[in-house]
Amino acid sequence: MLELPSLNYIETVETPTSFEVVASLNTKPAACPLCGGGVESKGVAAPMEIWDAPMAGKHVRYAFRGRRYECRTEGCPSFTYRGPDVHPKHGMTWRLLGYIQRLALKRSIKDIERLTGATTDQIWPVVLDLSEKLAGYQFATPRVVAVDDIRFGKKRRFTVIYNAENGRPLAIVEKLDAKGVAKILHKVINPSEVEVFVSDMNGSNLLLGESSFRGKPHVADKWHVLDKMQRQMSKIVNQTASKLKKGQAAELKSWKMELEGKFAAKDAKDWRTRLAGKKIESRRRIDDEGKLILKTKWDILKEHQPVRLVYHARLLLRHVYRANSRRQAEERFDRFLAFGSQVDMPADAAKAVQLLGEHRKQILAYFDVMWQHHDGRFRGPTTNQAEARNGKIKAMWKGSRGVKNAAYLNLRVVFEPYVLGATLILCNTCGKPEVLSEMEGLRRAGMDVRDARANCCSNCAQSVLRAA
Ligand SMILES: [Zn+2]
Ligand SMILES: [Zn+2]
Repeated sequence: MLELPSLNYIETVETPTSFEVVASLNTKPAACPLCGGGVESKGVAAPMEIWDAPMAGKHVRYAFRGRRYECRTEGCPSFTYRGPDVHPKHGMTWRLLGYIQRLALKRSIKDIERLTGATTDQIWPVVLDLSEKLAGYQFATPRVVAVDDIRFGKKRRFTVIYNAENGRPLAIVEKLDAKGVAKILHKVINPSEVEVFVSDMNGSNLLLGESSFRGKPHVADKWHVLDKMQRQMSKIVNQTASKLKKGQAAELKSWKMELEGKFAAKDAKDWRTRLAGKKIESRRRIDDEGKLILKTKWDILKEHQPVRLVYHARLLLRHVYRANSRRQAEERFDRFLAFGSQVDMPADAAKAVQLLGEHRKQILAYFDVMWQHHDGRFRGPTTNQAEARNGKIKAMWKGSRGVKNAAYLNLRVVFEPYVLGATLILCNTCGKPEVLSEMEGLRRAGMDVRDARANCCSNCAQSVLRAA
């Protein structure tokens, strides 16, 4: 066991899951914590349960006795002294407190309970305190900002503000109107320094673009744009498939003709069974001469004009995003609009195309702000990485069975990517949080732990240096 210097380890019993320790204090308080006056010992305090950071995968629990002291100043209350290694309020050591804080960014309260042995009642105040310290943290303003919505279950909707360049969330708030989001935005970054704003094209985001990012490119998010046509595709496929399944007799007869060879259906009912069967859906059947003898569901669907039209419109839209220049993208987008607005296009799909046409400016803005990525290809800003993170956030929400406290939700969503003590510090002088770059984190990790600058924010670093 890694023993704490201020404790006497009287007895340690190792069980299969824990170390049970009887410990007492070997230090005295220098002075009264209230008035700074002299103190007098009144003997040992009643034993209390104190949790320590786990060792070798086992929980560590002390039956700990602090000491009672009385202040010599009149009217000053007596107090229990727990020494420099045991937290004065929470029933735990300072190093367990630090351990819980580090875990709190990544793990649920239940997980921390399981890992440390401490109870939720002990863990929660520590986590809440950290959450409140980090709430509303002002980040360095990123070049590209994205705003996206995330749903938990059916009822809860949240707005997440992202740094779109690295996909890290900057803030999460329960679904607000444009004004509400703007307020949060101004709290966590400086919107006037943002160069590009990315979002879907719903009304409140358009408003936000107008109010907070006026005069800057507002880019329609690629994935939301593509999703518009993808949804139309699923819709028309489902509609057509269910129409096929209802099977008007005459039509069915002609489809039956298509099923030749040994897999041919005996009758309409048999055909339906086969169509619904996995074997038929999953692969085409080819006979010995290489002739297609059984069509997949998709082959059959594609023979229907509405499906073919929406399918092609969707392809044309995807093609837009493979353009290498704004001009090429413009041409391709206009070709998509022309194709998508032809009279035979199913009504819903035509409406979706029209809507995309109304946001031509924002969709094409993507190509004004493309840059070359590591793989050598040019791409514009998207909520791509943000969407990936949304999956993580949803898993967190599920793992915690919902999160009621807003500051705690912010902690789990916004600070999950950071490591407390490395890329995120709580200043040892002013107590304020600060995000450090990876490089700076490494530099600090190399410092002597006793160096006051190792865990100092940039504001306090000046005065600490001056004092040294
Ligand atoms: Zn006192
Ligand atoms: Zn500071």
